[in-house]
Amino acid sequence: MTAITGKTRVAGVVGHPIAHSLSPVLHNAWLAAAGIDGVYVALEARDGGFRRLVEGLKTTSFAGCNVTLPFKEDALASADEVHPRAARAKAANLLVFQDGRVHADNTDGLGLLAAFAEQATGFDAKAGPVVVLGAGGGARGAVAAFLDAGCPHVRVVNRTFGRAEALVAELGGEAFGLTDAEAAFQGAIAVVNATSAGLADNHAPDFPLAATPETCVVMDMVYKPLVTPFLAQAQALGRRTVDGLAMLIGQAAPSFEAFYGQPPPKDVDVRALALKALSLKAPGQ
Ligand code: NAP
Repeated sequence: MTAITGKTRVAGVVGHPIAHSLSPVLHNAWLAAAGIDGVYVALEARDGGFRRLVEGLKTTSFAGCNVTLPFKEDALASADEVHPRAARAKAANLLVFQDGRVHADNTDGLGLLAAFAEQATGFDAKAGPVVVLGAGGGARGAVAAFLDAGCPHVRVVNRTFGRAEALVAELGGEAFGLTDAEAAFQGAIAVVNATSAGLADNHAPDFPLAATPETCVVMDMVYKPLVTPFLAQAQALGRRTVDGLAMLIGQAAPSFEAFYGQPPPKDVDVRALALKALSLKAPGQ
């Protein structure tokens, strides 16, 4: 990292907890490789501090921040201008501060599509129905991204059926309860797990992935572990898989450009750095 000076452009990520965020690893590696006089820090907001933080930072030279759990809805509410992507997701993961105003965006959907492009070569969202598991902010971003990419039909499967119904009433698609997942999987070209099931202490239900066509691509937004039980089940069935780390890197890239004015350099392997930080081994390594 170059020495921090009075001209150093500062951005960061805000959440609670935040100490294990991989975003500083990604952004600071890109900054160093690009030779940009910038730094990216992690900020933990406590006790209602998120809104006060945004109020304070927006009139400073702070470039902006990524926002993670549990503040994505607060981030949207704190904005003066909202990108349609963030409005549709009802959540923002990116705030840019400019002339005292807060611009909100959501790059999770872009990250999702970038992950498919990278790890499921030839995948075409226009080719058939896609299943999204979950109805929270991540699921909303995924549904909006697939529809924007020309997907003809999105099926939303959620534990709380009413939330799936509310989501499709607003964004489009068809709602299913967990007990109807098998019907939703018929003929699907992709299944995306956007539930928080599988995270520590949150037991993942057994989704009937065997009901998907052999060519179906299976993705999990969760990336700790990199190969989640859901992805392991898909791989055992011979399905191609896409992992959540590719999505994390995919959502970080447009954020980097928003903060530092140029796309991230391609000559640094941030995935390897992130895997090292996670103390995980990439498949085949
Ligand atoms: P959220 O708003 O809290 O939504 C959680 C969803 O999971 C809800 O639909 C909930 O169903 C469902 N769920 C939770 N526990 C479940 C269980 N045991 N069985 C079945 N369904 C369950 O969370 P989010 O912000 O959308 O995030 C979802 C996941 O995506 C998180 O793991 C997050 O870390 C990940 N994510 C990753 C990236 C990335 O870049 N890789 C980006 C965004 C999000 P109910 O409606 O029934 O409660």
